[in-house]
Amino acid sequence: MSVRNPFCITKVEAWPIALPLLAPFVVATGQMDVARNIFVRVTLRNGAYGYGEMAPFPDISGEDQEGSLQAFPIAAKECLGQSATQFRKLSQRLGEVASLAPAVRCGIETALLDALCRGMGIPLWGLWGGADVRQRKTDVTLPIGPLDQIVETARAWHARGFRIFKMKVGHEVDEDIRRVEAVYAACPQATFVLDANQGFSLDQARECMGAMEQWHLPVLLFEQPVARENLEGFVALRRRGTIPIAADESVRSLEDARRLIERRAVDVLNLKITKCGVVESMDIAGLARASGIRLMIGGMVESRVAMGCSWSLVLGLGGFEFLDLDMPLLLSVDPIQGGYGYEGPALQPWEECGLGMEMREEPSSVIVVE
Ligand SMILES: [Mg+2]
Repeated sequence: MSVRNPFCITKVEAWPIALPLLAPFVVATGQMDVARNIFVRVTLRNGAYGYGEMAPFPDISGEDQEGSLQAFPIAAKECLGQSATQFRKLSQRLGEVASLAPAVRCGIETALLDALCRGMGIPLWGLWGGADVRQRKTDVTLPIGPLDQIVETARAWHARGFRIFKMKVGHEVDEDIRRVEAVYAACPQATFVLDANQGFSLDQARECMGAMEQWHLPVLLFEQPVARENLEGFVALRRRGTIPIAADESVRSLEDARRLIERRAVDVLNLKITKCGVVESMDIAGLARASGIRLMIGGMVESRVAMGCSWSLVLGLGGFEFLDLDMPLLLSVDPIQGGYGYEGPALQPWEECGLGMEMREEPSSVIVVE
């Protein structure tokens, strides 16, 4: 790499953060009260820097903060001396050296892309082409919990303008059905995305889907109804029902996406940059669109750093139909200044360079690779 290249990566840093949730986040496979994430900062030779976030969710992806911090220096060293302008090449390399730590790949990729765009003087969504720059509404997640409490939470979000409820199910099918019915009764303008997080057997998923159809509940999507490997289950549900089927845990790579599409197992793919990084997520989006598969985008439990990068894909690539970008609203802290904002359920585009964000506080303990 030329010593004069202004986009050469000269420093990569990471530090752990704790993001408490407003209420416990309960899904079929586990629970989270505090997101133990990691922020990343990449600095270029021209002085531009950018931020990224690793958001490991132990009960969903099997990754955690400790493992991610261990994997970080190995991945970060691969970037030193490389040019951020070659981010596709770097992404591939990170996928190889951190194949078991996709959250690490995602955090470093986000930070180097943010730095690149700040160095170029463009917002991150500008790098992807700015196909669909406008405000968009997200759903809001209602975790698994006692019926009365969930109905009360739903009412509060409804009063703030939220109309799409992403309901976590997959725990106990009768209770799950009752919870959806009760929320609909309390908020009759609501529509639903159901997310079972692999929690149902095929029979339970059929029962849940049948109840939604029987009671004419407005369900837009049924996400990850059965286990990750159970593609036959996906195919059977698609064949039988009228509700579109989405894959989340079943799509963690471009290869996964290709398999799901070839088997005609899904209507919708839910992309998350934490599952396979930013660049591979873009490649999945391209494959899905070329194959007539609809697109959703979501995240793990994360701040506006990771979610801002996902939002940049919506604005930049276009073609995303379902937005599940509510997580920062479920946190009790916002460690970031600037960047995109929320007005009720609507995410606003931003014009500043990169992600347009700064840290509210400088970190005290940092792992530095330079
Ligand atoms: Mg999901």
